[in-house]
Amino acid sequence: MTWTQEQLEIQALAHEFAEGELRGESGAWDSARDLQEGVFGKLAELGFLGMLIPEEFGGLDFDLGTYLLVLEELAWGDASVALSVAIHNGPVSSLLLRYGSDEQKQRWLPQLAVGALMGAFALSEPEAGSDAGSISTKAERSDSGWSLNGEKRWVTNGRRAGLVIVFARTGEDGISAFLVSPDTDGYAVGARESTMGFRASQTVSVKLDGMQLGAEALLGDLGRGLPYALEALDLGRVGIAAQAVGIGRSALEHSAKYALEREQFGRPLADFGATQAKLAEMARKLSGARLLAHHAGASLEAVASGSGHARTGLDGVTSRAAIAKLAASEAATWSADEAIQIFGGYGYMRHYPVEQLLRDAKGTEIYEGTNEIMKMVIAREVLRDAAND
Ligand SMILES: Cc1cc2nc3c(=O)[nH]c(=O)nc-3n(C[C@H](O)[C@H](O)[C@H](O)COP(=O)(O)OP(=O)(O)OC[C@H]3O[C@@H](n4cnc5c(N)ncnc54)[C@H](O)[C@@H]3O)c2cc1C
Repeated sequence: MTWTQEQLEIQALAHEFAEGELRGESGAWDSARDLQEGVFGKLAELGFLGMLIPEEFGGLDFDLGTYLLVLEELAWGDASVALSVAIHNGPVSSLLLRYGSDEQKQRWLPQLAVGALMGAFALSEPEAGSDAGSISTKAERSDSGWSLNGEKRWVTNGRRAGLVIVFARTGEDGISAFLVSPDTDGYAVGARESTMGFRASQTVSVKLDGMQLGAEALLGDLGRGLPYALEALDLGRVGIAAQAVGIGRSALEHSAKYALEREQFGRPLADFGATQAKLAEMARKLSGARLLAHHAGASLEAVASGSGHARTGLDGVTSRAAIAKLAASEAATWSADEAIQIFGGYGYMRHYPVEQLLRDAKGTEIYEGTNEIMKMVIAREVLRDAAND
């Protein structure tokens, strides 16, 4: 895979930002369970909160390859920041752009593009995670438009979000998507979760108690919420693959440096074949995962431009996105685990960076669809191809 000069320049800018503003702070943010809010202002200044939003709405209108390069660098610097940025730019902005009315786009996209509002995506519920089609949050027609009741779980950006896409059951019509401002009466942010990794990210539950929305809050067509969510997750999963590669690359780089510095038996660890094999395997898995992410990104771009590229089948976008997420999240977790092994006892200590990387990497195997669900999706497409053969 080759990059254009412009893509490489943007990647270098993202790397410089991640190195200067994120990497040195990441451990402290993890311990404090919080980010310096100023970091979002700096991301906005670089345009990284409007990466996929067209210029007419104030965004940078990056191609997906550039977007993935930036996400990887941000995750290399700090995984919580990358997660926040990915939800905001990916599922939230892309759904609005694709299915929003002109009024909805004018109202929300310019604010999202400059980070005046952060976006969140509220699909999961206490009793509905992998089986998103079984959500029980209800949206019923009311005099003003809609009345929503239910509970959402694990909403990333939950507390800092200014726009939340909420999925709710609209009776016989199925599931629909709604654009919700958190200052609406009846919207209450609940407990902040104490998570294993991504500790600086805000993962919250949300209660919707008779929340009244106007008719204009409905996004796209009634009853099309689940297909919209699944479509958004294709983009989301490719973004997670890029994040995972960034986390894994950080583990690889820390490991290589440590292996050169730490001596045992009178020689640096880097001299031992066992250490070299670990570094080589990390590099192999992460390089392969990066290619899969960009391959899936190119397919998504082709679908969006109406090139006739398939959504279904093993060569379709949904399967490629699932393969990329599966491969990259496994590569990241494996690499972070091996990094701890290379660091030995120090790797197991909280103030060395690699244990945080393992906790963060593990999350990429779970959110926006677990790896078991990725395998289910991939197998479904393999079998679909076989049945159609
Ligand atoms: C850090 C973090 C951030 C998140 N952010 C968001 C967010 O912003 N918005 C949002 O809506 N959600 C978010 N989530 C929720 C996430 O998407 C869900 O946790 C995930 O989809 C899994 O759902 P669940 O936790 O209910 O697990 P379950 O669905 O209960 O699954 C439990 C286990 O059973 C397995 N399993 C389930 N069904 C099958 C099956 N058919 N075949 C084989 N195995 C199966 C799963 O793979 C898993 O191992 C976040 C989660 C985390 C950890």
